Amino acid sequence: MTSKSGLKKLVLLGAGHAHVHVLHSLAQSRPTDLHLTVIAPYPRQLYSGMVPGFVAGHYTLEQCMIPLDGLLARCGARYFPTSGVALDADSKMLTLASGETLSWDWLSINTGPVMDREKMEALMPGAREHALFVRPIEGFGQLWPQVAAMGRSRPIHLAVVGAGAAGLELAMAAAHALGGAGFPAGSRVTLVTGGAAPATSYPPNVQMRVIKALRRLGITILPDACTGVGPGEVLLASGARLACDAPLLAVGAQAPGWLAGSGLALDDAGFLAVNAFQQSLRHPHVFAAGDVASRIDAPHPRSGVYAVRAGPPLLTNLRAALQDQPLVPYTPPARTLNLLACGARYAIASWGKLSFEGRWVWHWKDRIDRKFVARYAS
Ligand SMILES: Cc1cc2nc3c(=O)[nH]c(=O)nc-3n(C[C@H](O)[C@H](O)[C@H](O)COP(=O)(O)OP(=O)(O)OC[C@H]3O[C@@H](n4cnc5c(N)ncnc54)[C@H](O)[C@@H]3O)c2cc1C
Repeated sequence: MTSKSGLKKLVLLGAGHAHVHVLHSLAQSRPTDLHLTVIAPYPRQLYSGMVPGFVAGHYTLEQCMIPLDGLLARCGARYFPTSGVALDADSKMLTLASGETLSWDWLSINTGPVMDREKMEALMPGAREHALFVRPIEGFGQLWPQVAAMGRSRPIHLAVVGAGAAGLELAMAAAHALGGAGFPAGSRVTLVTGGAAPATSYPPNVQMRVIKALRRLGITILPDACTGVGPGEVLLASGARLACDAPLLAVGAQAPGWLAGSGLALDDAGFLAVNAFQQSLRHPHVFAAGDVASRIDAPHPRSGVYAVRAGPPLLTNLRAALQDQPLVPYTPPARTLNLLACGARYAIASWGKLSFEGRWVWHWKDRIDRKFVARYAS
């Protein structure tokens, strides 16, 4: 499929983990008949795996970032520093937040999920006005320094709502930071779990390690659900009110709303349904990877690790599609190494039923994360 110009128009929507790999490869060897466009609201990709380390004070924000400008220049890509807000897959049109519209021959989507403000507000009235959301991660990265500054000026109480991997890591990172040098004594962190024990998605041995790590840091575990957020307080299902200076919402993420009207095949939760080629089930000219997509044939958790792993097969299939070559199926791994940072330079690793913890695990994670960023940042 080729445009009238003879060029093949490929649009990359989002600069997530998989697209960073695609860009890196296209920067090294790019088909001469390719017209490449990239749409991403920020000219950098903040690597979420290192964000808890940023909150803990181990990294600067810059160390957690993959700048896109060098990659984009080397690919000869046309770049729109904005978001996609509407998509018509049948007419191959994309509408941007800037108001522009773009057509494509091939589209690849790697935008990640969203924290839907409307949904959050319906579940927890007041959240939109009073809470700090972890997504978009870029926004959280810009706002966290204000919380840290408040914690330097006086002891504060931080409530982290959500006890999945992100909430656990952020609660431990914040407790470590607020208890460190330059912060007055007396700050507290409470983890509002939603009702269950923390880390229920992990095997029991890992869950025990996590609970011990939370206790070592003095984090209060509150098995209650947040039902609303007010100025200086979190409302709980039990009827109690938890006074806090900063409520941080880490309660999972949803499919982007603009997918709903796109005509693309979606799964039950509204994520983009793709096949073994990371290709839309209904629109063969659309590919997707990372948290925005659902592998219908091989369901797997949404995580940065799976998004990273999907980069090379997505690249293979985009190149094949552009050259009218057969696509190559990709099997996501049945399990992945899970590394959970515990505030201080200490981490818990789990692989299936096996688990380990220690400072060496953190240094292992640190090496993996820095290597990932350095590979694409240079
Ligand atoms: C604090 C935190 C810590 C985490 N730690 C880990 C971890 O250690 N290990 C792990 O496996 N997972 C971790 N996760 C989960 C991980 O962040 C996600 O699974 C991962 O980011 C998904 O990658 P992605 O490439 O699909 O999307 P993202 O990383 O979200 O990237 C999406 C990109 O698309 C851009 N974009 C968004 N919307 C649009 C739009 N409409 N138009 C154009 N561009 C758009 C964004 O700006 C961004 O650049 C963590 C999550 C959080 C919040």
